Amino acid sequence: EKQKLKRIKTTVAATLDGTMVELYANIELPSDVEQVKENGATGIGLFRSEFLFLNRSTLPDEDEQFEAYRTVARKMRGLPVTIRTFDLGADKNLDSAKRVAANPALGLRAIRLSLAEPQMFNTQLRAILRASRYGQIRILVPMLSSVAEITQTLHLIENAKQSLRQEKISFDESIQIGGMVEIPAAALSLDVFMRKLDFLSIGTNDLIQYTLAIDRADDSVAHLYDSLHPAVLRLVAHIIRSANRTGIPVAVCGEIAGDIIFTRLLLGFGLRLFSMHPAQLLTVKREVLRSSLPDIMPFTRKILKSDDPDKIHALLTKLNS
Ligand code: PEP
Ligand code: MG
Repeated sequence: EKQKLKRIKTTVAATLDGTMVELYANIELPSDVEQVKENGATGIGLFRSEFLFLNRSTLPDEDEQFEAYRTVARKMRGLPVTIRTFDLGADKNLDSAKRVAANPALGLRAIRLSLAEPQMFNTQLRAILRASRYGQIRILVPMLSSVAEITQTLHLIENAKQSLRQEKISFDESIQIGGMVEIPAAALSLDVFMRKLDFLSIGTNDLIQYTLAIDRADDSVAHLYDSLHPAVLRLVAHIIRSANRTGIPVAVCGEIAGDIIFTRLLLGFGLRLFSMHPAQLLTVKREVLRSSLPDIMPFTRKILKSDDPDKIHALLTKLNS
């Protein structure tokens, strides 16, 4: 089975009707790149950089981060490497964190923490920018919820660029900056996100948590964490369609991107860029290779119209058979 899958490692991901799809990988550490290559990913859609900060007592300094980002950029040989700025707080806490928030998922995490700790953020931004001349690096900002956060973030990135210019340190001047859409407020105010950012990536893990008010880390409500909830499907479809209409690249990098139950549905929503754990890549590719957009579309429309979970499940089973 595994052997068979390996045969499609270099096969271009396209549906039966010839629609091209990009399959990127999610990584946590530079050492994951081996697995990315083994499974034929055409880019890294999510480098969860916060893993460089975990399980240690000191923060990684600029040079250490630079080395890590450069290693990944070099190993990917010009393929896109999307580095998410640290998403610390919530479920991924620093050992040195002073307080544990009563409700960490709604607390000072991700970009909120970055904006509250501008020096720590600047260190990371400089490291990413310095590494950007060794490959095709893109910056991805987690947990954006408002235009003010976007403006502040872009301002801090510009400051970091300016300081490098003054020090005559080169970097990719046209580095792309994208935002994660993982808070309902972001999904419902996409226009401003699309005006200010170069690309979007849908973080369905958090988007589901915040849409359904289900703590993704709480086992007692895990049975209510429903990726197929009509509200979730409509929100995800809305984001993909809006981005496609505007011509802004959009990916899904949450767990559903690597789950073949969702492959055809997401293709039907218009998704052409999936980013997932490298181990899932070839299985998803096989699913793409045996799918046909004209066959998928009628199901997609019916699924989006339905607010009956049983009907949605039945339609999806039919779509996937
Ligand atoms: C997500 O929220 O879907 C996501 C990809 O990011 P993380 O799982 O790291 O929060
Ligand atoms: Mg997330």
